[in-house]
Amino acid sequence: MAIFDTQVVSEHEDGAISSAVELLRAGNLVAVPTETVYGLAADATETCAVQQIYAVKGRPSNNPLICHVSDAEMARGYVEIPPIAEKLMERFWPGPLTLVLPRLETANVAAPVSAGLSTLAVRCPARQSTRQLIRALGHPIAAPSANPSGRLSPTSAADVLAGLGGKIAMVIDGGETEEGIESTIIGVTAGKLYLLRPGTVTVDEIADAAGETVYDRDESEITAPGQLASHYAPNAPVRLNATDAADDEVLVGFGDVAGDFTLSLSGDLREAARKLFRTLRTADAAGARAIAVAPVPMSGIGIAINDRLKRAAAPRNS
Ligand code: AMP
Ligand code: MG
Repeated sequence: MAIFDTQVVSEHEDGAISSAVELLRAGNLVAVPTETVYGLAADATETCAVQQIYAVKGRPSNNPLICHVSDAEMARGYVEIPPIAEKLMERFWPGPLTLVLPRLETANVAAPVSAGLSTLAVRCPARQSTRQLIRALGHPIAAPSANPSGRLSPTSAADVLAGLGGKIAMVIDGGETEEGIESTIIGVTAGKLYLLRPGTVTVDEIADAAGETVYDRDESEITAPGQLASHYAPNAPVRLNATDAADDEVLVGFGDVAGDFTLSLSGDLREAARKLFRTLRTADAAGARAIAVAPVPMSGIGIAINDRLKRAAAPRNS
């Protein structure tokens, strides 16, 4: 694997976007801010560059990537969009909602993006600088989270450097991300909606906008590989539903459980999602033997937070 002197450039700096586009055109990887977490971007039409994403992250090759588009118009060149998906795009794009749709035969997208599936996951990120970059490139970017596979997702440029520094050409620094966890993923098949991954856009909001039921992924034929049991893991093991901590544990609080660090003192789930990965990183850096985490309610955005926590606490793959 090539070694880089990874450049960090502010999203506001003159020429930042054009140098990133140049690097992407030459087949390099650039980490970009989005409203969810930082993404590790390659030009989605370049097979070698997309393969580099898998190599640099150590990502299993059966785990497909999300294509990020600058707008709905760009998506139309790559996927079939049934009316129900159209409604969701109108309501939630740009924003943290990914749709898994049938890929068009004519779609110019590198094969490893879909990891052998006939579908393509598409999303239009809210971060303006990243939409600008995609527009200037003229193609979607394939972009999973910019972290080594299985570890905590990055919510700042420094997090990206800590995990992938020296392995990628550039990081565009856009400060801390607003949502803090990965996008909601909805699979659309035969006019029905299936929740493939919970996020800050909730099932209720989606059902409301679509005027349709959102089914559980278990009820669908859709394969969503790569949703590994162990993921989002800090170095220390994680213990869930804790109301106090042992001497050698650090306690991450929520609401009434104050903890050593809190996800949200007022019990606000949106704030807790925003701070989730940052707080787990901080707790990890405190050097405790284990990280105990207070209960987070299983409703609304709490469903997405619990999904990440459950994977952070699962037995490790290696
Ligand atoms: P990440 O890029 O790490 O946020 O992961 C993206 C996730 O999106 C993958 O792990 C898959 O579960 C899901 N995904 C991406 N593309 C598809 C697809 N074509 N069909 C089903 N799920 C997908
Ligand atoms: Mg990821």
